[in-house]
Amino acid sequence: MRKAALFMVLLSVSVHLNAQQTIKRTLKLMGSRFDITVVAKDSTGTNNYIDMAVAEITRIEKRISSWDPNSETSLINANAGIKPVKVSQELFDLIKRAIGISNLTDGAFDISYASMDKIWKFDGSMAQMPSEEEIKNSVSKVGFQNILLNEAERTVFLKLPGMKIGFGAIGKGYAADKAKELLKTKGVEAGIINASGDMNTWGKQINGTSWKVAITNPMDKNKAFALLPIKNEAVVTSGDYEKFVEFNGTRYAHIIDPRTGYPATGIISVTVFAPKAELADALATSVFVMGIEVGLNRINQLPKIECIIIDAEGKIHTSDHIEIATK
Ligand code: ADP
Ligand code: MG
Repeated sequence: MRKAALFMVLLSVSVHLNAQQTIKRTLKLMGSRFDITVVAKDSTGTNNYIDMAVAEITRIEKRISSWDPNSETSLINANAGIKPVKVSQELFDLIKRAIGISNLTDGAFDISYASMDKIWKFDGSMAQMPSEEEIKNSVSKVGFQNILLNEAERTVFLKLPGMKIGFGAIGKGYAADKAKELLKTKGVEAGIINASGDMNTWGKQINGTSWKVAITNPMDKNKAFALLPIKNEAVVTSGDYEKFVEFNGTRYAHIIDPRTGYPATGIISVTVFAPKAELADALATSVFVMGIEVGLNRINQLPKIECIIIDAEGKIHTSDHIEIATK
């Protein structure tokens, strides 16, 4: 643990200017690569801030991970169809907001998608397409309407045996928001929490300009087709180019349509701009499921939210207020 921490410090980049420093640390959290960049007065202070962000993200991971058998989430899952489980206010609120996003997206986003992970695996271990029967059985356990919250008791009950929830599409965004919030309250004026390309920014770079995010086309990863300035907001990309399976020439993304039990197809990547990473994260996943037309339509109805979609042919589609040169 110590060694790893030291290694990360050595990896840090620092830039001196106006007595301010930009320090960046890269590490693995929540099963993903995180790059934490902080602008502060001196390197010791800056490194302490990064330590605080790491501690916060680690704390959240312990609570929400469905892999960790000791997490609150695992306890909820283990009691599906059995009994309600009392949880922390933090997890209760997260689940409540997740259900809110399910309502907003007509069920495209659904944390109870998770029981499908018994049949769809995106780690290269699937040898054949699951049968219709298997999919039908599993999808019968999916449905946010069956996540029952009791405000007074602060309990969560998954009504059906075999139901399961998971925060794969919202947890990283939530953790990034919390880490950003924490550092802001500690007085850190600028920084970026980047969770595998999910960028959450505040303040400005030392040279006074806005942070910029490069949008790449997954069809040609080396070429960014847009470099957009971002101010105090989050930019999150969901892409199928890292995790997918292919059967009979169709490419299935690691995002499941909770209504059919089949993975989403037809879209390669979705980038969402939003004031908060949590919402951006969840909506990026949702647009995958909703598809280009319905997805853009819904995004265009939401204030302060924009979206860029790249379809399976590499064509770019954008929401109403985004203009990008595609050369
Ligand atoms: P990434 O994990 O690559 O950043 P996403 O943010 O889109 O991508 O999250 C995808 C993950 O979300 C999946 O790996 C799975 O854990 C979970 N998930 C899949 N389908 C859904 C869905 N319809 N609603 C909510 N979560 C989902
Ligand atoms: Mg997401």
